[in-house]
Amino acid sequence: MDISVVVPLYNEEESIAELHAWIKRVMDENKFSYEVIFCNDGSTDHSWDVIEKLAGQYPEVHGISFRRNYGKSPALYCGFDKVEGDVVITMDADLQDSPDEIPELYRMIKEDGYDLVSGYKMNRRQGDPLSKTIPTKLFNATARKVSGIHNLHDFNCGLKAYRKDVVKSIEVYGEMHRYIPYLAKNAGFTKIGEKRVHHQARQHGVSKFMGWNRFVNGYLDLMSLWFISTFGRKPMHVFGFLGSIMFLIGLLSAISVGAYKLICLYNGNNPGLVTDSPYFYISLTTMLIGTQLFLAGFLGDMISRNSQERNNYQINKVI
Ligand code: UDP
Ligand code: MG
Repeated sequence: MDISVVVPLYNEEESIAELHAWIKRVMDENKFSYEVIFCNDGSTDHSWDVIEKLAGQYPEVHGISFRRNYGKSPALYCGFDKVEGDVVITMDADLQDSPDEIPELYRMIKEDGYDLVSGYKMNRRQGDPLSKTIPTKLFNATARKVSGIHNLHDFNCGLKAYRKDVVKSIEVYGEMHRYIPYLAKNAGFTKIGEKRVHHQARQHGVSKFMGWNRFVNGYLDLMSLWFISTFGRKPMHVFGFLGSIMFLIGLLSAISVGAYKLICLYNGNNPGLVTDSPYFYISLTTMLIGTQLFLAGFLGDMISRNSQERNNYQINKVI
């Protein structure tokens, strides 16, 4: 099979049939063999009825339905689990992403050898409020910097294409759909490209991601991804190192506080109590924090030693 299209959706009853017809038209024109997997993320409207009806009519339509709303990432995860096509396309259900982009995305994966091609919504800014575009720019700049994928402008675009290996090798969870290129890179898929895509205003329903907390959560997710990919397998290397340095600084300053007292006593001066010196408290705190950090590293290492993932490597080829 050439292409699997994965569509995560939550309350998009008005758009599904139209989206399917559009995908079908593009696929038929280009003579692709394909499947469409609708991942119903616990919709409370009639989305699932529409999908069931389509699946009855068209054998290439499949559906997965969650009992409740888990989020876009879990929906993608379950879709990825089922795909069979050589190239996997993800797109939003709200008709903002255009299926007309599919043939070129397919070509970039198949002929140009990309592992992942991300859409870049070029005409998005018309109409979008500043409160959405400025955080989005900041978000993308940070994601580029932290992930080291410098050529992507739009991490969060729902329209993306993947080589099948990629989606079978990564685990999208929580709200990590924003960082799939980063997950792919961490799994060893480094040929990541971008294609400018048409993007239109939502026609039916409302956006399911609103407000500022998505940016806050986005940053926290990025930090934890960065941390896991850098130190996840060796927590002691960071905590143990920081802890040792802190402890050493504390120890040295404690010694100097003590030495100062002894020298004063030796010379017959009255040095006062060591507890009167601010340096005493600073060294005490530093030593305590150092010990804590060291312990955190030690616990982290014990956890990773017992984790089932500890010997989970991405093997590319075996002969
Ligand atoms: N979506 C989902 N589960 C959720 C929220 C959203 O499956 O909990 C789907 C939604 O139906 C749409 C896609 O994710 O197909 C992108 O959502 P939306 O268009 O609301 O995001 P925006 O384009 O406003 O960023
Ligand atoms: Mg949308």
